[in-house]
Amino acid sequence: MIRVNRQGEVWVYAEQEDGSLNDVSLELCGKARELADQLGVGVGAALPGHRVEALAARLIAQGVDNVYVVDDPKLAHYQTKPYARALCALIEEHEPQIVLYGATALGRDLAPRVASEMRAGMTADCTDLQISDVTDPKTKELHKNLLLQIRPAFGGNIIATIVNYDWWPQMATVREGVMPMLPADPSRQGRVVRENVPIDDALLAVKLIERHIEPRKVNLKGARVIVAGGGGVGSKENFRLIHELAGVIGGAVGASRAAVDSGYVGKEHQIGQTGTTVRPALYIACGISGAVQHRAGMEESAKIIAVNTDRDAPIFSVAHYGIVGDLNRVIPMMIKALRERR
Ligand code: FAD
Repeated sequence: MIRVNRQGEVWVYAEQEDGSLNDVSLELCGKARELADQLGVGVGAALPGHRVEALAARLIAQGVDNVYVVDDPKLAHYQTKPYARALCALIEEHEPQIVLYGATALGRDLAPRVASEMRAGMTADCTDLQISDVTDPKTKELHKNLLLQIRPAFGGNIIATIVNYDWWPQMATVREGVMPMLPADPSRQGRVVRENVPIDDALLAVKLIERHIEPRKVNLKGARVIVAGGGGVGSKENFRLIHELAGVIGGAVGASRAAVDSGYVGKEHQIGQTGTTVRPALYIACGISGAVQHRAGMEESAKIIAVNTDRDAPIFSVAHYGIVGDLNRVIPMMIKALRERR
């Protein structure tokens, strides 16, 4: 735990792998900028790694004022303990009031480790972050400018707002794609601060012998159009309709958890609270009821078309265009119309 420093910066953990920054870190820079402007403080980015300093310019372009670089060959590839040590040392020295991490596999590994070492609080998988004054309901004490860490709880049935009065830094992980990435401004000026953090060999308990990186098979986050199928598709065989429509329209294939759990399509296609969060230009939801956990991952799409036999299905509450009908009739009509237009 560090002391409550109200002038402390808002930090982003800059996650990088093989010389490139993870998109979620860049998304968080925009959110950190917004929060820091409200608090009247600067934005910092913690950038541990080896030969990573060149990435600082991109972070600055995304809104960061100070990039704290820890460069060490022992940090060439991510390992929990050495990375946590580097981050804790930076936090102890600079006392940021907020530290944000992407809720990636790596961020989910690192953030709790740092929280435990710093005796700080941490909220996982936030969907929104705000600054507000909060009165402790027990003591009636007013706490100024706290970070509201907002996330779905109890299976998405309630939205919980979590605050941390004094176990600072206030820390949260945020899922990929939840915060919009602001346009980069290459003319922004910032500072690169090189820090030396001794990494004890005892922290390198794992010896990396070989790395094998499996490329992502499905790029839902980068897709401009997504055609998603749900439980209403009915079978794995029938899911070919979703693939066919996606193929004709030039989109990616998404799915609800019901479709994934029923084995119609792989888990990598799942959209929603426990899948990928997307915001494409067009989202076509076929046979998807629109449960809150599914909507959490797609309702920011620019245009949503829903096809469902049930006119009262919740998906219609977020759809811009709704088609009440059987997808087995509607999708072939869509495919035919698209082919004819070509
Ligand atoms: P169903 O609920 O089975 O709905 C099928 C829909 O298809 C119905 O609306 C029906 O009217 C319609 N339909 C049926 N036949 C046709 C037809 N021939 N033509 C057109 N429409 C038809 N869900 C997710 O999707 N993503 C998540 O990440 C996710 N995470 C979760 C996390 C937690 C902690 C929990 C508790 C749940 C989560 N869920 C998630 C599950 C979620 O609550 C729903 O159960 C799920 O989204 C339902 O999927 P569905 O709407 O496709 O299926």
